Amino acid sequence: MPELPEVEALAAFLRERASGHAIARAEAASFAVLKTFDPPLTALAGLVIGDVGRHGKFLDLACGTDSQAGALHLVIHLARAGWLRWRDELPAKPVRPGKSPLAFRLALDDGSGFDLTEAGTQKRLAVYLVHDPAEVPGIATLGPEPMAPDFTVDALARILAGRRTQIKGVLRDQHIIAGIGNAYSDEVLHAAKMSPFKLAASFTPEEVATLHAAIVTTLRDAVERSAGLAAADLKGEKKTGLRVHGKAGQPCSVCGDIIREVSFADSALQYCPTCQTGGKPLADRRLSRLLK
Ligand SMILES: [Zn+2]
Repeated sequence: MPELPEVEALAAFLRERASGHAIARAEAASFAVLKTFDPPLTALAGLVIGDVGRHGKFLDLACGTDSQAGALHLVIHLARAGWLRWRDELPAKPVRPGKSPLAFRLALDDGSGFDLTEAGTQKRLAVYLVHDPAEVPGIATLGPEPMAPDFTVDALARILAGRRTQIKGVLRDQHIIAGIGNAYSDEVLHAAKMSPFKLAASFTPEEVATLHAAIVTTLRDAVERSAGLAAADLKGEKKTGLRVHGKAGQPCSVCGDIIREVSFADSALQYCPTCQTGGKPLADRRLSRLLK
């Protein structure tokens, strides 16, 4: 799933390629992709793309100037298996519903544009056409942006205080902090040398400061690595840049211990026992429950 650094890089990529161009047409391959019905997609035709921004993991294309009547925001959430594919020359044939991974297409005045694709059978990719990004429920309820200047150590301390939940769950909850998902929460906790099961309420002031530094540097490094990359190269960059996420069975680049995996909520997390849990592997609760 694309998280804050990848969505940030996609926004920068689109600012370079799409901003300043008028929209020729927008097409959804299925009803399920478009989560709003008024205004219709045809309202985008002729609007010039302005800035392209990011809210958490949402991409936000401002279409038409704000002073102009009919200015809209095309908001995209790529979900777990979605991706954006830029095409210098889009096919002229209309998008047809079917089994192809194509979910949505935006065509620009010069014949270029992008496809949104989604692999797999679970279709979660979402497109919204709204007057104000805050109309998108997932944006209205987003927690603070961890790259913003007001995300200070004190702000993080207030977020963690009194929360009797595991830090892994806190970090990837979009209502608590925006933009961090399953991959970067693993990376942040590895950088902070902390157990993913540590309770948020148990953090000392020193630990809050360590976690804060890990969040900011992990995201900033990933954003810097992704900067300037084309949409097509971002996925590979994310994979090679990760140190623990998705690396179960491989040696930790810091200490050489073998990276482990344990189930967490609806997925799995990866961590290094030596770096993060005092050398002790975490018990897989789901597995032990099944064995009882
Ligand atoms: Zn390690």
